[in-house]
Amino acid sequence: PKDLVQREVSKLGDKGVSFEVNALVGKLYDIDELMEDRGFDAVFVGTGAGLPSYLGIEGEGLNGVSVASELLTRVNLMKAYLFPEYETPVYAGKKCVVVGGGNVAMDAARTARRLGAEVTVVYRRGREEMPARAEEVHHAEQEGIRFQLLTNPTRILGDEKGWVSGVECVRMELGEPDASGRRRPTAVEGSEFVIDIDMLVVAAGSKTNPLIAKTTPGLEVTPRSLIVADERTGATSKPGVFAGGDAVIGAATVILAMGAGKRAAAGIAEYLTQD
Ligand SMILES: Cc1cc2nc3c(=O)[nH]c(=O)nc-3n(C[C@H](O)[C@H](O)[C@H](O)COP(=O)(O)OP(=O)(O)OC[C@H]3O[C@@H](n4cnc5c(N)ncnc54)[C@H](O)[C@@H]3O)c2cc1C
Repeated sequence: PKDLVQREVSKLGDKGVSFEVNALVGKLYDIDELMEDRGFDAVFVGTGAGLPSYLGIEGEGLNGVSVASELLTRVNLMKAYLFPEYETPVYAGKKCVVVGGGNVAMDAARTARRLGAEVTVVYRRGREEMPARAEEVHHAEQEGIRFQLLTNPTRILGDEKGWVSGVECVRMELGEPDASGRRRPTAVEGSEFVIDIDMLVVAAGSKTNPLIAKTTPGLEVTPRSLIVADERTGATSKPGVFAGGDAVIGAATVILAMGAGKRAAAGIAEYLTQD
């Protein structure tokens, strides 16, 4: 609930934390400027992993197709559900497919459902392999979301006006475990079929935005732009700069991000009080 989140934020404000909102680090100013010009002795980077991944299949540019982050940002952050009182519109179809099996897919599915669509989640592995928490899947089911498991979209189909009209899928079967330990899905030849839809939401994971990596000299990052940070203290390769959460480990969970934040707070305290 939003009032609960607001209470948590207010508690920090009461303790003397100030917030500078609508400020994009790496565009408005960079980390060096924060430290050199604005006098911060330490910086914690918790910029998350908010850059959406796409499926890379035909038809992703059709009208009525979006990524989960766009749908959720419009509806939640920009209050499209109160349109026209709030000026952000949102497209809501009648028959929607959400592609993916994580928590984000569950949120997107339930949001599309609440906007009035009949929703099917299409996921390429089985229920056991779904990365979403079992509770999230259960809640989605309770809201009437259907699941089409062991199914992978191969092509998004459109009508003559450029709107999505269907998604071609192929059935999958699970083989040997892959590097992630989950059984690798492979397509069943000749099993293609089409689901008729007028809305499709891609929830196929997200990556770290490379903006901080590109604008912070001396900050070591992995080839995927994840920030390299000490597990115990959050210290990065750049003196005074600490990092944690999704920006370091990739898209993960709230609990892991909070733990990293607490460890980095201790690391920063140690750094600031050292002789
Ligand atoms: C739709 C959705 C559903 C999820 N559901 C669950 C769930 O059910 N359970 C669970 O445990 N986890 C869930 N997660 C994952 C969880 O939200 C993340 O793992 C967690 O929020 C990571 O915390 P973080 O502080 O590292 O980054 P975030 O919470 O992503 O915060 C990063 C912040 O940094 C800001 N930012 C980014 N770049 C810049 C910049 N250059 N300058 C200034 N600010 C910047 C972003 O706007 C954002 O506010 C979900 C994620 C999504 C997107």
